[in-house]
Amino acid sequence: MTASQLSRKTPLRVAEIICVGTELLLGDIVNTNAAYLSKRLAAMGISIYHQTVVGDNPERLRSALTHAFEGHGRPKADLVILSGGLGPTYDDLTKETVANFFEREMFCHEPSLIAIREYFEKTGRVMSESNRKQAMMPTGGIVLENPFGTAPGVAVGDDTRTAILLPGPPSELQPMFDYQATPLLLPFCEGVLISKNIHIMGLGESDVESKLQDIMITASNPTIAPYCGHGEVRLRVTAKADTQSVAEKMCDEMIARVYNSSIGGYIYGVDIPNPETALIRRLEALGLTLCTAESCTGGMMGQRLTGIPGASAVFQGGIIAYQNHIKTKLLGVDPQAISDYTEVSHQVARQMAEGAKAALGCDVAISTTGYAGPGGGTKENPVGTVYVGIATSQGTSSLRLYYRNKSRNYIREAVASRAFIAALEAVKNM
Ligand code: ATP
Ligand code: MG
Repeated sequence: MTASQLSRKTPLRVAEIICVGTELLLGDIVNTNAAYLSKRLAAMGISIYHQTVVGDNPERLRSALTHAFEGHGRPKADLVILSGGLGPTYDDLTKETVANFFEREMFCHEPSLIAIREYFEKTGRVMSESNRKQAMMPTGGIVLENPFGTAPGVAVGDDTRTAILLPGPPSELQPMFDYQATPLLLPFCEGVLISKNIHIMGLGESDVESKLQDIMITASNPTIAPYCGHGEVRLRVTAKADTQSVAEKMCDEMIARVYNSSIGGYIYGVDIPNPETALIRRLEALGLTLCTAESCTGGMMGQRLTGIPGASAVFQGGIIAYQNHIKTKLLGVDPQAISDYTEVSHQVARQMAEGAKAALGCDVAISTTGYAGPGGGTKENPVGTVYVGIATSQGTSSLRLYYRNKSRNYIREAVASRAFIAALEAVKNM
């Protein structure tokens, strides 16, 4: 397949995504295809101003196509990517509707019919007559093969409007978009967008903004924008350029400027997948070992730490001390501290970390204790209050976290992330 097959005369600047499926409207499935396609198109420098979800209904799909391509008060789309409705059943009508929109006849595409037949033979299933429908294509379209399923996709359009039809299942849509649709689109793209994330700890979003004001106000390409995470602020640097290498270089230059600014000392990495990776790498570089004492996170920290390849060089183990008698027995927490301050307190969090550090013979220990809800909590420490303790050779520290109106699991995941960052902060000057 070559790029010249796509019969366009104008560049691709604006795209709209239309996902077809009543299941999506009913909330039965989450629209992950839109997220996937949006990211990919943004990286190609194509702007997305609208995403649409429409049920399995030809009139409403036609109306969505008309809106996208004709604008109706908004920027006209040069490109519409459709997902879903390419299957063999009566409610799969995306191809017919798009063919009708571009006034194209449908014909049986023999190579697709052969491929569908072979797919059924290979997977040991019987091809039904309705599967023939999947080989029907609008005339003048470019067929996109589907090695991971039966429904082929198709690109169809005219001098200024291109529609790309992709199958609904993400395992089929993603490779078809990346390997077959993208090469068709790239010659009509005007640039690439690249983003990199700078991870910052120990500063709030507004601190970051005020310290970086000069850079942020003047930056237009790359742009630089702060996002708040659990205990961290991310700065997303985005550059647009003709080629990937130029965009990368522009990002790297901006990142160097941020490193040289007054927030340089608070940066703990660039493009780090998660805080546990940063912590493991940092402790590995320092030659330090790590252990955990978990109450409300119930092993989540251990699970996340052991999910990182090479964690064994750093992480030694952990104690899940959910009940107070375990906190006392295995971690040496003073029962008096529990009765004086309750188990959800700075004192107990610190004693848990110190106890784990001693019991497991590690350099660094992290503890958690709190109320993840929905029950429990006190007036001073309502549901959502969690204490994190960090013990190192330089001393012990603790912090109080509070998450209002969050689910049990949200709180536990957030606490684990925040605790890893707290540990990173504690070893910053070691
Ligand atoms: P099939 O040949 O499987 O019928 P299709 O192209 O007709 O494929 P749909 O029938 O619309 O696609 O959807 C099939 C399945 O693909 C859905 O049940 C769902 O699991 C998944 N899917 C569809 N659309 C989306 C979407 N927007 N995001 C994530 N998954 C989706
Ligand atoms: Mg279907």
